[in-house]
Amino acid sequence: MTTRDRSDACPGAVQTHRAADGQLARVRVPGGLLSADQVRVLAACAAELADGALELTSRGNLQLRGLADHAPPELARRLSAAGLLPSEAHETARNVVASVLSGRTDDGLLDVRPVVRAFDAGLVADPVLAALPGRFLVTVDDGRGDVHGLGADVALRAVSTTAVELTLAGVATDLTAPVEHAHSLALAAAHAFLAEREAQQSQAWRVSELDDGPRTLTDRLVRDERGPAGSPEERTDALAAPGGRPLAAVSSGGRPGAQPPLVVAPAGAVPQTDGLVALVGLVPLGRLTGPVLEVLVQVTAALGSEVQVTPWRSVVVPDLPDEFVDDVATALHHGGLVFDAASPWAQVTACAGLPGCAKSRADVRADAARAVATGTLPVVGPQHWAGCERRCGRPAGSTDVLATGRGYEIGAG
Ligand code: SF4
Repeated sequence: MTTRDRSDACPGAVQTHRAADGQLARVRVPGGLLSADQVRVLAACAAELADGALELTSRGNLQLRGLADHAPPELARRLSAAGLLPSEAHETARNVVASVLSGRTDDGLLDVRPVVRAFDAGLVADPVLAALPGRFLVTVDDGRGDVHGLGADVALRAVSTTAVELTLAGVATDLTAPVEHAHSLALAAAHAFLAEREAQQSQAWRVSELDDGPRTLTDRLVRDERGPAGSPEERTDALAAPGGRPLAAVSSGGRPGAQPPLVVAPAGAVPQTDGLVALVGLVPLGRLTGPVLEVLVQVTAALGSEVQVTPWRSVVVPDLPDEFVDDVATALHHGGLVFDAASPWAQVTACAGLPGCAKSRADVRADAARAVATGTLPVVGPQHWAGCERRCGRPAGSTDVLATGRGYEIGAG
């Protein structure tokens, strides 16, 4: 079991990280969902304050690199005005990944977007939850199973069109909630983590780092008189065991709750249930550069639509009328997005490497791009190129391609 002796140092938009190429800021995007206005603001921040690109992270968040030392306050001001920084105190705690295209295709059982919004609102309204570590992850899966295997600390998964089930650090509990109380269940689980961490006098960043974390948190959820927010009646409704057993009888079943992670991103045109079309584009090396950002700004402004960033370094442009799909796809492709799921880019991720990270032994992005261009990838299947053993941003299930200073070493994955 990992033992921590310090708080995590995950960067945020205010609490930036000093990298070799300047300040690095990470912007949390709960559920990966960005409005047209937020896309416009982020693209302008990238162009005017950073190195021109937005980087996608393995948790569906965004990073800006190369910020001047004086830029973070201006970045925070712009993000705050656009609703991307609702609470400075909670900025690194808002790590929520949600099913991609939820509510737009019929692969899921329900639309989890309202759950994400309610959870995020509850999080930033609660001063206690500002203490959640930056590594603490919440996933909300609509039943399609795309994000449930991402190794979240608190994972909600739809089990019917009206209910979700709670999994803690990969262990399924017997706790379920009606979908209208799903956010309260996740908030209660986050509280239980902080309370148990204090009880164990631990500095754990993740539920799995606590002694018997999933079981102790489940026990707390069952017995904690606080329960999820709301009236006593609501609390009774919010937590329920399958089959309507009384709350006091609920206990952790200890069943494995995780499923294999999805390591290869879907890509291409996806028909929505409302007759519109979503384009899912892979973002090579996770960098959304100026030309693509320009198209995203234009399209979302024209249609008043959203963009969803995914944990697989791809972006979704939904709600496209059929007659616009080809033109938008062509423009995005010219900007650098890839719509072919069979492309090698669907298999390749990389850390920042040189010159952005002083710890790196190589310019891993340039080397990975060269290997893709020349058809000389050193391994078949999902692979993560990294400049040192920290392997930042490595998706679960990927094979390591690790810089040694003399070349690359292939890891077991
Ligand atoms: S894996 Fe190592 S080289 Fe790559 S970004 Fe992380 S610390 Fe830097």
